[in-house]
Amino acid sequence: MKCEKCHQACHKTVGNYKYTESGLENVLLKNIPIYKCGCGHTIIEIPAFMQLHAVIARVIVRKPTTLSGEEIRFLRKAIHKSSKELASLLGVTPVTVTRWEKGYNRINPAYEKILKTVVYTSFDGKVKNTIAVLEEIRKAEQKQTSKNVSSPLSFIARKAQLSYRYAQAG
Ligand SMILES: [Zn+2]
Repeated sequence: MKCEKCHQACHKTVGNYKYTESGLENVLLKNIPIYKCGCGHTIIEIPAFMQLHAVIARVIVRKPTTLSGEEIRFLRKAIHKSSKELASLLGVTPVTVTRWEKGYNRINPAYEKILKTVVYTSFDGKVKNTIAVLEEIRKAEQKQTSKNVSSPLSFIARKAQLSYRYAQAG
């Protein structure tokens, strides 16, 4: 691998990378190829990019807690919709979508369920599986106490690593 800046050969290492480019705060990709150049430039190689995003989206959908703004934005991008398109799909204004994504307003639970349904079905393809997932989420919501809220994003990080290993093995 040649450096994009100075065109020298880079030194390859394997390490962990906080994947903030995903728009999510805590997705840690473990043991991915990292190329370091003597000039200080670093190139990251993300294997199975599309699969990784699909896995992260599925994990976000399964969250029993309300979606954060950054998670809503991630899901919208995962299904390749603009704010305007998502707004029209849900029957809200584009401003409403923007306010959810920026964290000014919490998403209404009914819209959240529609969004989760659309996203999960678009990755899984089977409505009956989506219904099973929504049931699972409902049960998890009932079990949840305010004390016992695990960080959904560390959960995502664990899943992302699993996906990475899965992609590597395959
Ligand atoms: Zn360089």
